[in-house]
Amino acid sequence: MLDRLAETCALLADLIAYPTVSADSNLALIDHLAGRLEHAGAKVEVSHDTTGHKANLFATIGPEADGGIVLSGHSDVVPVTGQDWSSDPFAMVERKGRLYGRGTCDMKGFIAAAVAMAPHLGAAVRNRPLHFAFTYDEEIGCFGARALAEGLQARRLRPSVAIVGEPTSMRIIEGHKGCYEYSTHFTGLEGHGSAPDLGVNAVEYAVRYVARLLDLKEALKARAPANGRFDPPWTTINTGALVGGHAHNVIAGRARVDWEMRPVQPGDAEFVKDDLHRYCTHTLLPAMRAVAPEAAIVLETIGEVDGLIPMDANEARDLVAELTGANGANVVPFGTEAGIFQNLGMSVVICGPGSITQAHKPDEYLALDQLAECLTMLDRLGAKLAH
Ligand SMILES: [Zn+2]
Repeated sequence: MLDRLAETCALLADLIAYPTVSADSNLALIDHLAGRLEHAGAKVEVSHDTTGHKANLFATIGPEADGGIVLSGHSDVVPVTGQDWSSDPFAMVERKGRLYGRGTCDMKGFIAAAVAMAPHLGAAVRNRPLHFAFTYDEEIGCFGARALAEGLQARRLRPSVAIVGEPTSMRIIEGHKGCYEYSTHFTGLEGHGSAPDLGVNAVEYAVRYVARLLDLKEALKARAPANGRFDPPWTTINTGALVGGHAHNVIAGRARVDWEMRPVQPGDAEFVKDDLHRYCTHTLLPAMRAVAPEAAIVLETIGEVDGLIPMDANEARDLVAELTGANGANVVPFGTEAGIFQNLGMSVVICGPGSITQAHKPDEYLALDQLAECLTMLDRLGAKLAH
């Protein structure tokens, strides 16, 4: 096991050295991982995004069949700009049992462990396939995972279990809310403040829109599922910013509302969006267009990251509980790619080395004993796959 830990650390150091900040290319890192996985006997597919600068990796060990187990992680990291690091964030260093570097815990540590264990797992696999899914652009909206999911659907490949290795201190997480972010843009008609009826005040319509969001915020509380485990147990709405207009005496021609909701169940997002659509079409827009036919309200989707809904029956949870000895599973307040896999009909848990409190911070680190625990889990997974 010690050798494996050393080997995993060496691979992790290689991965950290690729500065795969979401804005930049991840191709060199994906290439490196593809080489390692091919060497371990995996069939590797690399699929690029439309820019050609980013790619997902999907690899399979064992038969091309349904019912496989997916080990999943995102290859991108958050930027280090403006952060005060004690050492180069892209040169991993070990200090007092901790590995420091951008992405050590979020989440190249899990990827390094999975890939370092690939030869061992590959030798163990018999009838049930094992997959590796490494994605791009998780930190800015899970775009890579979405593309990967579409690829799986197009090929009609249906793995049944996914373990998403985001840092959970190796505890089992079976749920998190979704995170849907929007900007709503209002275009009115500018004019002199002394004659408000001759213009369309975009800020005033934006305020009415926000008032509607407040009504919806209350309505969502009543829709909270019984025995909900999230805190709070209902879908929330937050208005993050309202900007618009120029000066005291000018009718505001433009305004923008930045808002988000965090759905706890399927249907809530549609409930909110349908209501807003009706409100804009039947109430706000007719009033705006009575004065200015070109007036408009445009809803821009910034990102829609699906939640992971806790399920009574969850094979992934039972499997990982058996592998880690953990009893019980929790929910967390941060979002991941897990919901995308769940939407494909897979059972999903989040379980990975390192603490989320380290993620995105300067001097991000991964404790060596966390990495060792992860290797133990994967070793047991190998034993399981051998049956
Ligand atoms: Zn992450």
